[in-house]
Amino acid sequence: MTAVPLRHPPADSARHHEHVPFLDLAAAHAQVRTQLDMVWHRAVDTSAFIGGEEVERFEGEWARYCEAEHAVGVANGTDALVLALRALGVGEGDEVVVPTNTFVASAAAVVLAGAAPRFVDVDPDTLLMTPDGVGAAITGRTAAVMVVHLFGHVADVDGVITIARRHGLAVVEDAAQAHGATRHGRRAGSVGDVGCFSFYPGKNLGALGDGGAVVTDSRELATRVRTLANHGRAGGAHYDHERVGTNSRLDALQAAVLRTKLACLDEWNAGRRAASARYRRLLAEIGVRAVAEPADSVGVDHLFVVRVPERDTVRARLADAGVATGVHYPVPCHRQPALSRFASAPLPVAEAAAPQILSLPMFPHLTDAQVDHVVAALARAVAG
Ligand SMILES: *Cc1c(COP(=O)(O)O)cnc(C)c1O
Repeated sequence: MTAVPLRHPPADSARHHEHVPFLDLAAAHAQVRTQLDMVWHRAVDTSAFIGGEEVERFEGEWARYCEAEHAVGVANGTDALVLALRALGVGEGDEVVVPTNTFVASAAAVVLAGAAPRFVDVDPDTLLMTPDGVGAAITGRTAAVMVVHLFGHVADVDGVITIARRHGLAVVEDAAQAHGATRHGRRAGSVGDVGCFSFYPGKNLGALGDGGAVVTDSRELATRVRTLANHGRAGGAHYDHERVGTNSRLDALQAAVLRTKLACLDEWNAGRRAASARYRRLLAEIGVRAVAEPADSVGVDHLFVVRVPERDTVRARLADAGVATGVHYPVPCHRQPALSRFASAPLPVAEAAAPQILSLPMFPHLTDAQVDHVVAALARAVAG
C-alpha cells in the first residue's frame, strides 16, 4: 500500500507565499510535540498497548466532548460504521439509505455489514443528504439511514430522525469529518442512535495512525459494539465468544495521542472556521461559488469546497501557481465500479457536482496570507 502524504510538499515551502499545501499538520503537531513524545515513553514504560487506562480515559473524554453517554474506541472510522450497523442488527436482506456524495467507506460499511446501500441524491447548495431524499428512498427493506456530515457541515439530522422514527428506522451518523461540529447546539454524532468517528491523521482530530470511535447514549449498543470489536468477547471473559466479532480496538498509544490532541481540538477547529470565513468573504468578491454551510450548522470545515466549471483545467492552473488542491470526491459512490450494482435511480445533483467540485487548502494554521494567495490564484485560474 502506498503511503498517504499528509503534507505535500515538504514543510519549508509552506513558509513561502508562493506555495500553499493542501494540508499542513506541522504547526499543529509542533504545538503538542513534547506531550506526544511523552506518550510514547509512557507506553513503553508501562507496557500498556491494548486497552487499559489511556483507552478508558479517552473513551470517557470523547463521550463527554460529544455530549454522548458512551464512547467505544475502535481501529478506524470504517470499522466504527460497520460495527455500529452490526450492533443495530442491520445485516443481510436490509437496506440502508446513504447519500451518494460521500467517501466510499460510508457505503462500503453497509456492504461489509451484509446489507445493501440505497443511494440518495443531495441538496444542490450544501451537497448533503436531505430528509426529503431519505423519505423518497424508504422501502419495505429499509432498516437504517446513514447521515453523513460531509466537509464538517452537519446535515439535517433532526429532519432525518423525524422521518426515520415514523418508519421505525435506526439513524447512524457518519461524523468522520465533523469532530466538534454542532447543529441547534448539539454535537454531530450525538443526535442519532449512534455516531461514528474516524481519527485518521488528516481528520479534524487525528491520531498518529488509524483510529475510530462509536458514540451512543445506549448502554446496550455500546456494549454490543465493544463485544463485536473485541473478538465477540462477552463481558470480561477472555474465551467466551458470544458472536463472531473482529479485532478492531483502538491502540492505547493512539488513545493517548488523541487525549493530548483533544485539548487543542476547539482551537484548531476555530482556526479552520476563521480561514473558511475569510475564503467566503473573498470568494464572494470574485464570484466563485462555495459549497454552502447549512443554516443551522456550526461546522468545523474539515474541507473547503468550491464549484468551478472546467475544474480540471482550473486545478492544473492552481498547481502551476503553487496551490495544492483536492477533489472530494471525483466519482459519486453509485458510479463506483464496486458499488454501481446498488444504483437504482439517477442522482443528477451529485452527478452534476462531481466534475465541478474543488477542495481548496484547509487546515487549522492556514494563514490569512495563504488564503489571500489561494483566492488570488483562483481568480486568475478561472479567468483563463
Ligand atoms: C474518513 C472517512 C471515513 C472512514 O474512516 P477511516 O478511519 O479512514 O476508516 C468514513 N466516512 C467519511 C465521511 C470519512 O471522511
